[in-house]
Amino acid sequence: MVVGEFAHETDLLIIGGGPGGYSAAFKAAGHGIQTTIVESMDALGGICLHRGCIPSKTLLYMADLIDAAGSAEQMGISFGRPTFDLAKINEWKQKVIDRLARGLGAVAKKLKVEVIKGKADFEDSRHVVLEDSEVKRIRFKRAIIATGSRPVELKDLPLDNDRVIHSSGALRLDRVPKSLLVVGGGYIGLELGSVAAELGSKVTVVEMLGSILPGVDADLVKPLAKRLGNLFEQISVETKVTGIKKAKNGVDVSFEGKNVPERKAFDQILVAVGRRPNSDLLNLAAANVETRERGFIKVDANLRTTNPRIWAIGDIIGEPMLAHKAMAEGRVLADALAGKPAVFDPRCIPAVVYTDPEIAWAGVMEHEAKAANRNVAVKKMQWLASGRAMSMGRTEGLTKVVCDPETQQVLGVGLVGVHAGEMIAEGVLAIEMGAVAADIALSIHPHPTISELMGEVAEQMMTPGATAPH
Ligand code: FAD
Ligand code: NAD
Repeated sequence: MVVGEFAHETDLLIIGGGPGGYSAAFKAAGHGIQTTIVESMDALGGICLHRGCIPSKTLLYMADLIDAAGSAEQMGISFGRPTFDLAKINEWKQKVIDRLARGLGAVAKKLKVEVIKGKADFEDSRHVVLEDSEVKRIRFKRAIIATGSRPVELKDLPLDNDRVIHSSGALRLDRVPKSLLVVGGGYIGLELGSVAAELGSKVTVVEMLGSILPGVDADLVKPLAKRLGNLFEQISVETKVTGIKKAKNGVDVSFEGKNVPERKAFDQILVAVGRRPNSDLLNLAAANVETRERGFIKVDANLRTTNPRIWAIGDIIGEPMLAHKAMAEGRVLADALAGKPAVFDPRCIPAVVYTDPEIAWAGVMEHEAKAANRNVAVKKMQWLASGRAMSMGRTEGLTKVVCDPETQQVLGVGLVGVHAGEMIAEGVLAIEMGAVAADIALSIHPHPTISELMGEVAEQMMTPGATAPH
């Protein structure tokens, strides 16, 4: 390593060590490309590992445990009122993060991916300069930008480390607020709102559009909205926050809209109104890398930016801002850079909302087909008659399959219910492989599982009325 004035040299520079960056790096190094990651955090993993997917799912698992213990009462098992040790909860969460981060570090070492700590800024088309780093300057032959995104801020709700927080603050779980106002009924608001509610916080959600999870299939959202309606103090759609005032023990909030919440004073506010790309923090202009609307980096079908030596992947290039999309782009791009015939062109990118019940979908959904005037065949089945769902006392779920009406090719799959996130993989495989309904129906699903409802719905698609409850 060369320190000081001289430029450190690398064949492939990857800026950002999140899921996009490390996936690209590991694959590229596996192909024998000399690869360097610059990451401003202390360890690899990105937002997903340190302040996103992993800590949130760790806390959501705990929330599920609390809920399951409570609902076991109807089955004759009582655990009593749960007590919480926040320090231990945080310790467990950190252990999970640290173990995964160590694993990534070990893989990088094994593959000889050089990891340099520091914040990179482009100097020109061939160099970056680093802040907070032992290495001051790196000269690259090719570079991948994978610097991710950060929360959108609302100007009426300036951040204040204790009262007005974003997802990172909520995940730190320094304390459980007595009352929590969640602004935004999207992924983060509902997932982290659920954690707070299960830990005893009185949670109010305000969502400016007409439904929580706007844009998601209404059939899938309905059972979740019903359950969250019981868990949360209030869900107010078509409503916005207009201002906040510091009060003695919290904040007083004013609202406007169709369903102004009854409560006006809150202990804490979680702002979760979307994320924006970090493209303004890299001096992109120096490298002639252009952005498009909302600040996403402009890329072509090969993920190449407007500078032919620089590519970009992950949240920084656009929706869906999901870790598995970033990883898949990273791996495909590394293959392409190694000269393999590879292009990022998936038929679907699955999405999972890890609430209780979970919502998961992939491919074309009914409302999207309708909006595009596309003729589709849709079959859905509630989980009411599923023996497995019944045995868990969780029959509120639904399985939905969207097919081409002529060929019965599977175009989309939607699920709501427990373990929906695990089961969507079958739908993804069906869509990617160009499967038809018969492929799913004739694949024997294990009994008793909720997954067998996929087979049932596919069977219905082939021969309406042909299935019986299990
Ligand atoms: P990031 O993970 O954001 O990584 C970018 C990295 O670049 C960071 O480590 C950052 O420190 C570094 N960096 C930035 N600028 C520089 C610079 N100039 N120099 C050097 N390094 C830099 N997605 C899912 O698929 N499933 C989930 O369950 C899920 N849960 C989430 C929960 C929360 C609370 C949040 C906030 C997000 C969640 N996401 C989830 C989204 C997921 O985290 C992102 O889609 C994913 O992290 C994007 O990966 P990335 O590699 O593009 O960027
Ligand atoms: P989001 O886009 O999922 O939801 C934001 C919500 O806020 C929207 O419903 C929007 O209509 C609403 N909103 C916007 N402005 C508002 C205002 N002024 N008042 C009230 N409501 C307002 O964004 P998020 O929840 O912040 O999450 C950001 C991104 O992170 C997600 O889009 C997703 O890509 C990723 N994420 C994924 C997961 C997962 O995969 N399970 C979990 C968390 C985050």
